[in-house]
Amino acid sequence: TVSAEGLSKYFTYRNQTIKAVDKVNFAFKEQQFISITGPSGSGKSTLLYIISGLDQATSGDLLVDGVEVRSLFGRKENHFRREKVGFVFQSYHLLSNLTALENVMLPMQMVRGKSAEEIRERARNLLFQVGLNEDRHSHLPGKLSGGQQQRVAIARALANDPRVILADEPTGNLDAYNSKRIIELLKQLAEQGKTVVVVTHDRSIARVADIRLEMEGGRLTGMGSQIAPVRPV
Ligand code: ADP
Ligand code: ADP
Repeated sequence: TVSAEGLSKYFTYRNQTIKAVDKVNFAFKEQQFISITGPSGSGKSTLLYIISGLDQATSGDLLVDGVEVRSLFGRKENHFRREKVGFVFQSYHLLSNLTALENVMLPMQMVRGKSAEEIRERARNLLFQVGLNEDRHSHLPGKLSGGQQQRVAIARALANDPRVILADEPTGNLDAYNSKRIIELLKQLAEQGKTVVVVTHDRSIARVADIRLEMEGGRLTGMGSQIAPVRPV
């Protein structure tokens, strides 16, 4: 579950206050696929970065999978980013000198508890789950197509089994065919129990979403804005 109440992010630029995210409320549950659309500069990426812990809110409450995000710092913050959320970027952001398999192994290696063999086995399984053929597992990202790289990036986001997957324009660099397959994959993850939040311009993503939200000037509109936020206990 991801819930927010009065969540805001203000920037100060040349003595002007930019309300990138302005007092938004929402509650996203497990098994929900949420799309956020809206014009450029409306605050979509900033909102996603705040939920992921990559950026800090100016004010408001945010609860992600039982964790009060505002109270995170230092090691706890790293733990949160590694284990509570998985982030998928428009441009994949894979490490170019590691193979597909090694990219997926990496987040697991940052966390204690799994043996090298378990990590390798889980990474292989995740790559199968996202549909990357075994003969591609040892390829460097530069040798893979955009669609294949995004599959690897999704497998990496799943590595530490987070409950929440966040994606910023995941199909922005893909052709129609690969976009469709990536959307199906994200949709499947939601059906399997994840909360999947996708920021997108892609209408075909919004079409399959359970909750369609729109952002405009830092404000959230659409069905999600009417959902009462879940109170932190
Ligand atoms: P979107 O993802 O919808 O295109 P953004 O979240 O990137 O929108 O940006 C929302 C607003 O916040 C824009 O006006 C943008 O210029 C501003 N903004 C985003 N990041 C910063 C920053 N680091 N410093 C100042 N302004 C920012
Ligand atoms: P994306 O395609 O990931 O949304 P953007 O081009 O919107 O990337 O922003 C890239 C980075 O620059 C982000 O980290 C964002 O916070 C920051 N940023 C966006 N707008 C501004 C701004 N007006 N001033 C300073 N930083 C900004």
